[in-house]
Amino acid sequence: MSASKFDEIGRVLRAHQRFAVLSHVRPDGDALGSQLAVALALKQLGKDVRVWNEDGMLEKYSFIPRAELLSQPPATPEDFDVAIALDTAIQNRLGNTVAAIRSASVWVNIDHHQSNPGYGDVALVDPSSPATGQIIFELIKNQKLPFDREIAENLYVAISTDTGSFQYPNTTSRTFEIAAELVCTGIDVGRISQQLYENYPRRRIELLRALLDTMRFEADGRVAHFGLSFQLAQQLDVLPEDNEGLIDHLRAVRGVVVAIFFEELNDGKVRVSMRSKSARVDVSAICQKFGGGGHVLAAGARVRGSLVEVQQKVVETVCDIVSHNS
Ligand code: 5GP
Ligand code: MN
Repeated sequence: MSASKFDEIGRVLRAHQRFAVLSHVRPDGDALGSQLAVALALKQLGKDVRVWNEDGMLEKYSFIPRAELLSQPPATPEDFDVAIALDTAIQNRLGNTVAAIRSASVWVNIDHHQSNPGYGDVALVDPSSPATGQIIFELIKNQKLPFDREIAENLYVAISTDTGSFQYPNTTSRTFEIAAELVCTGIDVGRISQQLYENYPRRRIELLRALLDTMRFEADGRVAHFGLSFQLAQQLDVLPEDNEGLIDHLRAVRGVVVAIFFEELNDGKVRVSMRSKSARVDVSAICQKFGGGGHVLAAGARVRGSLVEVQQKVVETVCDIVSHNS
């Protein structure tokens, strides 16, 4: 990451007054934690800050400090000096937050997706970073921006969730150094981890039971997938956020190289979520074929068609690629 980019963003943050801090639809811990960390630092600088996400704050992340600052965007657009997009590979993943911004003199784009084209007036995209939260930490330290325990807890949530609890291959010694600095502020790692990983609603495990019923293995066990119909989601009364991470059960099976989760949405599309265990099988490239994107080992797309159609098409493509690359 170039120091001049940090300088440029630092200047933008100090020079302006009204900020909108945004992240992607169907947010994860990295998106929400990064948003609140940036917002809290800006507020300490005395700035006016709006923190918006199409989905608002999710129930499962509502324990993070100052979660109440984050809301769905208002119906009436507002004027800003600066809009900041975090953890968002392409602008249309900002969803309806964009419509709530009538004007912004500067668009800042901070992200770690390799598929991010670098949109906006100032873009800081570092695909080597395992989480946007890690980039935010580096920015805060480099630019001597405000930093405290609440910001640290939000960044810890961001980094812990996007590294799969410090397990994924892009977790480096730097990630652990940063984690150590965050813990030094006095955050309670045990409590945060329990809230993140041992506090799921019971309906989530009922959902897993139903998904396992649809589980299939293909390509000699190298591809595993399961799917959730819209009807089943309604029957089980699950929230969209309930299925985050369930795909990990498939990835965790010996021999599986690519895991795929299909979720039928109510708009004629199917959300496809993919995980790879091998750098030789780049699921971001596969998802880009279907109009999506993401990282080498974790990516997704929204594909038009019925659950069965999309499942067939995507599984066929993945099996073909896996058979030639692993
Ligand atoms: P997940 O499978 O957890 O929804 O997403 C995994 C990764 O793929 C995330 O980094 C996310 O940003 C990216 N991703 C998921 N869905 C889409 C999509 O529809 N379009 C793009 N461009 N990226 C996606
Ligand atoms: Mn992320």
